[in-house]
Formats: sequence, C-alpha cells, structure tokens
Amino acid sequence: MSELEGSGYKGKAFQLLQQADCSVGDILKITSKGKTYEGILIPRFGEGVAIIIKMKSGYNIGIEATTEVKVEKIGKGTVPKFEAPQLPKQKPSLPHVVIMSTGGTIASRVDYRTGAVRSAMSASDLYGVVPELADIARVDTEIVYSIYSENLTPQNWTELAQTVAKRIEQGVDGVVIAHGTDTMAYTSAALSFALQNLPVPVILVGAQRSSDRPSSDAATNLIGAVKAAGEAPFAEVGLAMHETVSDIATVIHRGTKVRKCHTSRRDTFKSVNGFPIAKVQNLQITITSDSYQKRDPKRKITLKPHFNDKVALVKFHPGLDPAVIDFYVEKGFKGILLEGSGLGHVSKFCFDAIKRATAKGVVVALASQCIWGRVDMNVYDTGRDLLSFGVVPLEDMFPETGLVKLMWALGQTSDPKEATALLKANVAGEYSPRTLPQEEKLPNEGGN
Ligand code: GLU
Repeated sequence: MSELEGSGYKGKAFQLLQQADCSVGDILKITSKGKTYEGILIPRFGEGVAIIIKMKSGYNIGIEATTEVKVEKIGKGTVPKFEAPQLPKQKPSLPHVVIMSTGGTIASRVDYRTGAVRSAMSASDLYGVVPELADIARVDTEIVYSIYSENLTPQNWTELAQTVAKRIEQGVDGVVIAHGTDTMAYTSAALSFALQNLPVPVILVGAQRSSDRPSSDAATNLIGAVKAAGEAPFAEVGLAMHETVSDIATVIHRGTKVRKCHTSRRDTFKSVNGFPIAKVQNLQITITSDSYQKRDPKRKITLKPHFNDKVALVKFHPGLDPAVIDFYVEKGFKGILLEGSGLGHVSKFCFDAIKRATAKGVVVALASQCIWGRVDMNVYDTGRDLLSFGVVPLEDMFPETGLVKLMWALGQTSDPKEATALLKANVAGEYSPRTLPQEEKLPNEGGN
C-alpha cells in the first residue's frame, strides 16, 4: 500500500494527488480559482473532498478538489525517523513487571510534519520515553497488538487473556497493558472475567494525549500502573488513569466497575457504582476500597478466556421496534442485553418479542441505561412482567460490563440455564453488595 492509499483521500482528491505523484508529507503547490497555496500534504480524516495542506504559518487549509484545481509536487517529504531512546538499566532488587502494548494513544506519537497521530510505539519505546520506570520495576516489554481499541474484538480479549496468563505463570510480579482508551473498559471487564484467582495485579493503562506530547498524561498513568502492578497489595484487574485533570495522582479502578465518561479529559474514567481500588500519588499506594483480593504469588490463576460474540446490546428507547429483538433471535444470537430505562423497563410493545426470545433459549438480561444506581424490577408492573418472561436483572452492573459478562457466560456454556447462573454469580466484583448514594465519600478520602 502506498502512503497515499492509507492517507484517507478519495475520489477526485485522490486522483489529483496520484497524478502529481504525491505522498503524505510532500510539499505541494496547489492552484485553485487563480490563487496559489503551498504546504505539506497531511492525511485526510473524515468525509470531504478537500485536499488538506499545512502551510508555513502552521495553519491547515482545505482546497476543494475540482477539475480546475492544479496540483504540483515541489518537494519530497522526508519520513521522520523515531529513534527509540536508550533503555534504562534494570535494578535487580525491584519487582518484575511486564508491559504489554496493544495500541491506542498511549502507544502513539505525533508526526510533527503533518500533525497526524500514528500508532507507532512499542512497549519498549514507552519504557524508554518514561525512564523513571526503571526506579520502580524491572520492566520487560512485549507488543501484543498495534491496534486502535475500537478495532479490538472478543477474539483479541481471548488472546490477550492467554498471553497475560502465560506471563503470570512464568512468575512476574505484575502485568501492565497499554491500551486505547475508547474500549479499554470493555477489555478490563473481559480480563476480569477471563483471569480468575489472579495471584498478582493486571493493570490496564491508557492516555488521552500521545506520550511524546508535552501535555501527555501517559507518563503519570504509566508510573501509577507500573507501581501498582509491581507492589500493590491487591491481585485484581485494574485500570489506571488520572484522578483529576492535573498530573497529581493516578487511580486504579476495578476492572468491572469502570467506564469512559468524557471524550477528551484526562480523568475520563470513573468508577461507577463502586470505588476505585487504590490511588497512586508520589509513588505511594493508598488503598481506597473496603475489600479486595489480596496479592498472593502462590495462588494458581484460573484461565477462562472464551467469549461468545453472538450477543447483542439493544438500547431501549421510546418507539423501539420489537422487530430489532426478533432480528437477533432469527440471526441465531444466543444472548441479548437490554439497556432498559430507569429501574429496569422496556415498553410493553416489546413484550411478545422478548417472550419469543426467551422461549427459544436466548438469554435476555437487563441493565439500566441510567448507568448510576441499581435496577429493581419489582417496583412497577413492567419490571415484574419482564421478570416473569425470564429476563435477568443485572443489579448495579452498567450495560457495557453486562454485555461483556453475557458474552463471557455464553462463552463458558451453551446451556441457557448454566449461562444465567454464571450471569447471576458475582465473579469479579461486578455486583456491589449495596448501592451507595453517590455523594457518599470514599473510605479514605475524597468523593467518587
Ligand atoms: N480511538 C483510539 C483507541 O481507543 C485512540 C484513543 C485513545 O487511545 O484514547 O485506541
């Protein structure tokens, strides 16, 4: 694939650029409507027919690609070389942590010619970029994927769980997984179900700004994650990200109770219907959860890595056509997670379709689209009716964790009764014993 083919340009723009033998990064002269523009060709994101160049002033300009436009290449772009920094020396007395990279912003860098973000850093590059890690742990690195997290699938969760389990069986003191933030909470839930009886922590970590930007949150998050993986007293799947917008502290959220809540803030991840397990500030770990599974290197991990991807998430909304539910049943889906309203409701117009689904052995579960709080399907008739059709209420699990759990349960067994029993069991802290009012404080400090 030429660089132009991966550049995002289509149609007339692609044709003009190809005729002039241009690649991303080349210097172009474009003439349109009697005016001439010079600048570096940058990749095209999203829809549109314009050719985008970065001008000397630093501003980008889009010139509509029409038959009248003339494109000339006046300079060849040089592909910037990323020189991986020298790896810091290992200190034998420190805990042994493996950093696996899967992709995403944390493992990306900015191409300063064009402003594009590229997935380019290996776990070992990350280690080089944050040399402070050498004072926290003996770090081994491994590239598992180089994928934006929206492109990961349940098959990737399976492989990742198997890779992590292998390293843990070899005796590492903790595992860190660098991951894109978009679907990091789905992966943290998936690993929480797949990796049971963990002897040591497994910590996912991401960043909202790539690690080579001065404003990056990657270093603070990585330091918090590696510190927790190597030394924290708990042995669970956690997710480490900024506590607030400033670079002061990292919180480690429980893998099944965390959600991405903001498109761009550094403190985008929040523990929902639960508290973070711990906080790392100035290299000090403070436990913030009442209960957790203790680190015990002698414990034997139980690997249950399979997921069934024939599971659908259906968001209820006024006017939802019940044919949507029938569609999944007809297509052979084994589970449907209903994102119900309020305490756990969907319209009575969907009742017959739900009855048809459960009668066919499809496991139908329900989590609330309110996100915060707990479903209670005994309060109103609607909830009671749904219960009588066999719908499984997912208590205070929010829909994304509920979806992953349903995929996992149906990955363990094809028997709907057994899958329902697994769904109802508290496997990885996904159910909280009681729902706290949101304003209640953390056990140690602060609010949620
Ligand atoms: N969408 C990409 C991903 O989730 C980049 C965003 C990020 O890492 O935060 O991998």
